[in-house]
Amino acid sequence: MQNTLSEDPLGSSPAGLETNAMAEVAVSLPVFGTYTYRVPESLQAATSVGHRVLVPFGRKTATGWIVGFPRAAPAVEIKEILDFPDDAPLFPPQMVAFFRWLAEYYLYPLGQVIEAALPGGWKARESVSYALPADVSGPSPREDLQRRILAEVETGKLTREALSRRLGQPVSKEVLQGLVRDGRLERRRRIRAGGMRPKTVRHVRFVRGAGDGEKLSKARKRVLRVVEAAGEVSLPELGRRVPGAARMVRAMETTGHVALLDKEVFRDPFGEPVDIESAPHPTEDQQSVIDAVCGVLGKGFQTYLLTGVTGSGKTEVYLRLAKAAVGLGHAVLVLVPEIALISQMERRFRSRFGDAVAVLHSGLASGERFDQWRRICSGDVSIAVGARSAVFAPFGRLGLIIVDEEHDGSYKQEGGFRYQARDVAVVRAKLDGAVALLGSATPSVQSYHNVLSGKFRELKLPHRIEKRPLASIRIVDLRQHRDARGADRWMTPTLHRAIEERLERKEQVLLFLNRRGFAPFPICSSCGDALRCRHCDISLTYHKAMGALKCHYCGFSLPAGAACPSCGGTEIRMLGMGTEKVADTLTGMFPSAQTVRMDRDAIARKGAVVRILKQLRNREIDILVGTQMVAKGHDFPGITLVGVLCADQSLHFPDFRSGERTFQLLAQVAGRAGRGDRPGQVILQTYTPDHFSIRTARQQDFRAFFREEIGFRKALDYPPFSRMALLRITGKRADRTEAFARDTGNRCDELTGGSQSFARSIQRMGPIEAPLPRIANRFRWQILLKGSGPSVLHRFLRTLLLAEDSPSPPAGVSITWDVDPYALL
Ligand code: ADP
Ligand code: ZN
Repeated sequence: MQNTLSEDPLGSSPAGLETNAMAEVAVSLPVFGTYTYRVPESLQAATSVGHRVLVPFGRKTATGWIVGFPRAAPAVEIKEILDFPDDAPLFPPQMVAFFRWLAEYYLYPLGQVIEAALPGGWKARESVSYALPADVSGPSPREDLQRRILAEVETGKLTREALSRRLGQPVSKEVLQGLVRDGRLERRRRIRAGGMRPKTVRHVRFVRGAGDGEKLSKARKRVLRVVEAAGEVSLPELGRRVPGAARMVRAMETTGHVALLDKEVFRDPFGEPVDIESAPHPTEDQQSVIDAVCGVLGKGFQTYLLTGVTGSGKTEVYLRLAKAAVGLGHAVLVLVPEIALISQMERRFRSRFGDAVAVLHSGLASGERFDQWRRICSGDVSIAVGARSAVFAPFGRLGLIIVDEEHDGSYKQEGGFRYQARDVAVVRAKLDGAVALLGSATPSVQSYHNVLSGKFRELKLPHRIEKRPLASIRIVDLRQHRDARGADRWMTPTLHRAIEERLERKEQVLLFLNRRGFAPFPICSSCGDALRCRHCDISLTYHKAMGALKCHYCGFSLPAGAACPSCGGTEIRMLGMGTEKVADTLTGMFPSAQTVRMDRDAIARKGAVVRILKQLRNREIDILVGTQMVAKGHDFPGITLVGVLCADQSLHFPDFRSGERTFQLLAQVAGRAGRGDRPGQVILQTYTPDHFSIRTARQQDFRAFFREEIGFRKALDYPPFSRMALLRITGKRADRTEAFARDTGNRCDELTGGSQSFARSIQRMGPIEAPLPRIANRFRWQILLKGSGPSVLHRFLRTLLLAEDSPSPPAGVSITWDVDPYALL
């Protein structure tokens, strides 16, 4: 054996007894680094990278994944793998390098990165039960409970919960342990691997040469004829054709007329069939983009930013390029924001490529997700369309990765393994030598900066399809309506007239307000206090239809008639406005129009989004009121008026990206108007018409926005001129949380004090109380770190958080970190 590290870290060498004797395993536990285990000799030939394993870890059993086959044993004693729960690996070996990169960059345990990437529920579950030992020793117990326990397990092993249920009283661990110690009971551990299983369906196959079945009964002859004609048929199908077939085929297998076999089938995630569409002829602009990318497909890594105005036909470009890449034998990954995916991207891809497309998004049941995953893994499909987490689709080697609406905030995963799917897509393309194509009408500051600095190449679609004009945008200054009462504060005469006109012409209207619920500020008339969540430092939102005041952060709610918690006053004024109030008001104002709301509450029920979008397409909706989800990527030719009720809403967030987010949101909503034959109009109501985010959104000019914004970023040394990481310290007790935040701050000081390079390149803001200082009964503090570049920031984080002597938080306090944070609240 060589005394070097594996030269073949992907483990893609042919399976051999010697090379696969030991496996490098990443366990799904919060531990950094991987561990070496022995592979049972009988399984060495069948083992490969990507296999899930159960391994002993300390005194427990852990789930892990094989990520390599080291040639040299570590100095310590190594243990053997306990079990391989699956027949096939869950990801191809080429993905290991990608997983390792992710673990390294986001400072997240490799096994947990892999777990987050896979479609859910792989953790091993351990169940402990108690049974009578083979030979009973020890004295028989005196206590009644103990005797009753032994009587119960006489017929078979039971878990503690089952025992408690049967005896009608809680059985403590101590009692059971006592019996085990005395030799009267035996404790048995069983490990069950979690996760989905491939679904199989029994099939019946015709066997030639088993005679003509002359001697068979009439019914069996019918079965045989159906099977012979089909060659092979699923049992449910056969049962439909010949009732009772299921019972007959078993005997017919014995007589050798048919063979039975279980075949893997894929659960169908698609609600409806999609008509195959014929591809339109690309425009000249589209063709030149297609040509540019086709010219480099298969020739190595390159990232493009496709800047195309709204309605310029980016989707057609994606479809053509996907086809070209597949033609070259490459796999293609298409990422879209969740909501746009449901609305159109999935349909477009399926109508062009039929079943050759796998779809991955959160709307699928877990079995369907797993099946889609397996189709990709087994090489069955070469195109996958999906939301954020589809960036982990298990393709061995990708040729093209498309990220549509690349600016969209939903590419950032918050919570758990925090990553940015767009950024990660580019990394994956680089590792695979693939082309990454990011598209947007309102590209992120970061991506356009990458164009200007030469990292990305820009491709343009400067015109709308058929040279349709962009919607004209009219600004309405809300300051002039400050003294208006009630709904007149937001339903300005200009907007009212415009809505009326569209309704008369049977055109559709889209109204945008980025706040759901009826009223976001319930205020007590007696004491003037806002009604706040009991567990969070946040105002409750009144939801009229639900009859409740709800917290949007933790789910806490009070009944609508609740008295003021501060003074007991019962007269609560529902101030402010949300989409529910707007929709209510509109129904009153335009009673003959069909007004529908689309926000997180309205789409909570499964299938609701699809239904609303279908109604919109069929012109069964006249006015759609919604939050930012109406801004995303939809293409509805009937919408000729878009009203933005209050454009300033997102401008005043304590966040350096609030200007960027506002610009993108406004320009995107505006882009929903005038996509059909009739020109569109946008009415943008605002208190700050002179703010540059609003001015440039009005011109739908992202370059103009970028030129102003980039100056601020540079002056304040914000990304893309620096890299950030956000440390969040949360805890149940205010004092301990603050103390640990301050300790961590001091430790930062020590590190910068002890290293010139840290002192030069790392800036620290905080510890400060987070802008949302308490959520779900946890107090929140944060430290924002800025590094002049990624590598120095990573070195700093590693030393601060993962070194041997890094302080660990006191009980009840935890620290998490977010590399390249998006939400700073
Ligand atoms: P974007 O994503 O850039 O906003 P879409 O891809 O939604 O734009 O395209 C806008 C509309 O133009 C769609 O209805 C699409 O079917 C249509 N379209 C795209 N390309 C062509 C083409 N070459 N010829 C005719 N219609 C096209
Ligand atoms: Zn709350």
